[in-house]
Formats: sequence, C-alpha cells, structure tokens
Amino acid sequence: MHPTIAPLRDEGAGGGVAPPVDDRTWTPSSWRARPAWQQPTWPDGDALAATSGELSALPPLVFAGEARALRSQLAAVGRGEAFLLQGGDCAETFAAFGADAIRDKLKVLLQMAVALTYGAQLPVVKVGRIAGQFAKPRSGDTETRDGVELPVYRGDAVNALEFSEEARTPDPHRLVQVYHQAAATLNLLRAFTRGGFADLERVQQWNQQFVAESPQGRRYEQLAEEITRALAFLKACGVDVENDPTFHTVDFWTSHEALLLEYEEALTRRDSLTGQWYDCSAHMLWIGERTRQLDGAHVEFLSGVGNPIGVKLGPKSTVDEVEELAARLNPEGELGRLTLISRMGAQHAGDRLPELVRAVRDRGLPVVWSCDPMHGNTFTSDNGFKTRHFEDVLTETRTFFAVHAEEGTVPGGIHVELTGEDVTECLGGAQEIVDGQLGTRYESACDPRLNNRQALEMAFQVAELLRT
Ligand code: PEP
Ligand code: MN
Repeated sequence: MHPTIAPLRDEGAGGGVAPPVDDRTWTPSSWRARPAWQQPTWPDGDALAATSGELSALPPLVFAGEARALRSQLAAVGRGEAFLLQGGDCAETFAAFGADAIRDKLKVLLQMAVALTYGAQLPVVKVGRIAGQFAKPRSGDTETRDGVELPVYRGDAVNALEFSEEARTPDPHRLVQVYHQAAATLNLLRAFTRGGFADLERVQQWNQQFVAESPQGRRYEQLAEEITRALAFLKACGVDVENDPTFHTVDFWTSHEALLLEYEEALTRRDSLTGQWYDCSAHMLWIGERTRQLDGAHVEFLSGVGNPIGVKLGPKSTVDEVEELAARLNPEGELGRLTLISRMGAQHAGDRLPELVRAVRDRGLPVVWSCDPMHGNTFTSDNGFKTRHFEDVLTETRTFFAVHAEEGTVPGGIHVELTGEDVTECLGGAQEIVDGQLGTRYESACDPRLNNRQALEMAFQVAELLRT
C-alpha cells in the first residue's frame, strides 16, 4: 500500500518534499507535506476540501482545558498513582448509533473501573474509544469477492461495509456525519457521567448482579463483596456517600485513532488561553501501528497539538523507533503527554516488550505504558470469523504486568476493544464461546470485541493481578 502525499496548502513547506525534521514549522496542515499512509482514495478532491471547510466552521467537540486535565491525570498514571482504562469499539458505526448502545458501553466501562479501582487501590482514568472512532487502517487497499474487486471498508467515516461499488466509494460527507454523531454521543456521555448514572453504589450493584447472576461472575464474588463492604465501611465512618459528588460523578474522556488527518486538522483549534493548538475532536488521540512512520504525516500532525497522545507499538517496534517517537512527540519530556500502547501478541510480548521497557527506563523517557492485548492476538477461525481468544488476551496482559514488575517500571493501564452488548466475537472466557457460536451474534464492523461479560471478567482478573 502506497502512502499518498496530499496537495500542499498555504502554510506547508514548498515543493511537496518533506522538509528535514528539525527545519520546519508545525502548522495544523504541515502534515500535508509528508506521506500519509492508510488514506482512502477520495474520488473528489473538491468535495473533500468543501467538507474540511464545513468542519472547520463547526464548534470544537472538546476544549483545551479538558485535554490538559486528562494530561495531568495521565501523568499520575505514569507515576503509578492512577490506572488507565481505555476501551470501546474497534469501529463505531452509523447503524449502531443510539442511546442504549452508548449507555451500555459506558456502563461496562464504569463497572470495570470500579473493580480496577479496588484492585489497584488507585483512581482509574476512564477513556472511551468513542465519539470519533470511525476510521480504520486495513491490511490491503481492496477486497475481492467472487472475482469483483472493490475498495476495502475503511470505517464509516470513509465508506460503507456493504460490498457494492456505491457503498465502498469513499464519500467525504461521511466526515460531517461522524462529527454530528460524535457530538451527540459526547453530549449523552457528559449527561450520564454528571447526572447520576455513574453513581458508585449503583455501579457496584450492577457488578454484584454480574457476580450473582452469571456462573462466570461467581469466581469474583469475594472481590465484589469486599467492595460492598468497603462502601459500607465508609458510610459507617460518616462519609456522606449520598451527597458527596465524588460518589456520583466521574470524569470520562474520549479518544480515537487520528487516522483521517483532514478531519483532525479541521477540528484543530488554537486555545485562547495558552495560544497552543489542540485537536478538539477528542481529548486523547493515538497513532496506529501502521501509521507511526517517523517522517510520516501522522507523527507530524500529532507532534504539534497539545492533547495527550498515544502510539501503538507492535512486535516489530525497535528501541530506536521508540526513542525517535518520544523525541518527536514529546520533545519537552512531559509525563502525561505520551502513552506507549504495546500490542505485541501473547506469543511475542515476553520477547519484545522487556527490551523496549528497559530502554525507555534507562533513558529516562517520561511515558505511560499501556497494554492493548487485542491487536496482536487476532486470527481467523476455521469457520471464517476474525476473532481473538480470551485466554490470549489475558496472557498478554499478564505478561505486560510481569515485565513491568521485573523491570521496576509502572504498568500504567489497559486498552481494550469491548462492547456493552452480549455479542459473540471473541472466543473463550468463562462463557466458553467456541468457533461454532461466533456466528450467533457477530456484529463488529471490524475487529472482534470482548462482550459485556468477557470485559467484566477481564477487569476482575486484572483487579486480582493488581492486588498481588
Ligand atoms: C485499533 O486500535 O483498532 C487498531 C487498528 O490498532 P493497531 O493500530 O494497533 O493495529
Ligand atoms: Mn481494532
């Protein structure tokens, strides 16, 4: 797959050739002078430019002060004073948009966070893959079925999943729909997290229901019971659990992969307070494993915005790359700015991760380490479903914790693909989903997600790991 070099706009360097890294000024459009991997072939450049113009005139979705607040919470994660939980769909879709789906995703993340808070005895920083996670990197540009070759599905931000010429033709108007869906999603999330839905006692009741009602939950009875007793203890001590807002509201942050840079550029605004640029499409943005080229457009773009950012690191990542990425993306060396998200695969994590963790530690690079135990563990089942095994997900997570324990570094958090629904996309777990059941409820538009119970099970397992 070849990168595309987008046409230059006014502020870019001349000639369409990437300028030397140190010899250029960042602007929201300076990425356009660099090769951008994993981009759609938009059929109509004018329509794309018009869409960018339209998005530029729309209000920001988040504001700079929020991104800074998340950065400082992530700094606490880096110091080992908080734990990061990042999760949500692989790809949000227009079809699955609705209040119930948003509620259920938030609900499962809040439930996980309570278990993790107790296990880690630390605050949990909650970041959704939500309200903007609509664009996907793919392993090929096209897909062929029965001799018909069409552009690959790149997420609802670009085209539609259905296999027809019309559906698969990239359409920039979709970016505006992404914006509006993200705005409505964020609005509901803000209401839920401030309006009482996130009440700690309620979330704990849901966890107790999970424990009581499902055979797979029963394993975690003791931990759930301890949490209930801890709450009762607080009340007995006179803590005003009913009225103290700490127990009723939560901070919940949004994030997505910053893949489509026209969209990200259009939502990048200058903060009136600091004069700094922020990508106001989400609180946190990350760079995917396939677009983290040092001289590429994605690294260039995110190097200049003030948001906290993440970079995925696959098993082929080298020490040099990690050092260069840290130098480019976090030149000031501020903790909380950069999260390294390792996604090595259960088989490779033990071999690959220690070297990187050690190098980062020995050079004193201030980063948050997080573990994405999903993307290195994807395979196709015998009956043709893209899936992951719950055991592999847990194995990679355990390895991540073991490596950090060994190296004396901080295992900052986890990054997972999950849904609040009872889907059958990942194998195993205490529900013991097998190949033959994958078709029962396989709804992901892209990668397989942990279902509600698998996600809770994962949280309880990690909570147990954190306590030991
Ligand atoms: C993703 O997070 O959905 C993804 C594509 O991840 P990665 O870049 O790590 O493959
Ligand atoms: Mn994915």
